[in-house]
Amino acid sequence: MPEKLTKFECRICGECCRGGQKVWLNPADMERLASYLGLDGPDELEARRIIVIEAGEHGILRPRLYFPPGPAGASCRFLINDLDESGRLWGRCSLHGKAAKPLVCRLAPLSREIDLDDGSEKWMEVPPVIGCPGWGDTPPPPEGRALPPPELDPGIREDLEGETEYFKILSEK
Ligand code: SF4
Ligand code: SF4
Repeated sequence: MPEKLTKFECRICGECCRGGQKVWLNPADMERLASYLGLDGPDELEARRIIVIEAGEHGILRPRLYFPPGPAGASCRFLINDLDESGRLWGRCSLHGKAAKPLVCRLAPLSREIDLDDGSEKWMEVPPVIGCPGWGDTPPPPEGRALPPPELDPGIREDLEGETEYFKILSEK
């Protein structure tokens, strides 16, 4: 997670890792995930239904995590549901702190919009799911709230730059 800019504090409820959430991946995410899972390469992710390829923004085909169905509905296979001391159900990401955690999950609730023509970026804090309790009584609107550019650690900046190149390739298809 980038340096704290907001009053956001994740309550580890796991709601953004369930249901119809779409976790889009970039090539670096897929390489790391395949390596973490001990697969021969990213191609195996689709064969094993770890990911699915689906039309995203502007109808462009992109990979995203597949959420398998379970007793409580679909959820990310990397989500660990557990009860805390008070019996509250919580949801922890088993990839947290690991290189294999997808970029979009590492950034949340921050979101970047990039202008591919001039390379400029807009940053927002966006509730990852309606009703996310991370801001208490002052959540951003569903469409997000603009933020100044955050300070990012070098690893995240490098991944964002790689993702920008990926978006350029996709936009030219
Ligand atoms: S919905 Fe919000 S509080 Fe709950 S896990 Fe996701 S980011 Fe954290
Ligand atoms: S990888 Fe982790 S943070 Fe991302 S959706 Fe899955 S459980 Fe949630």
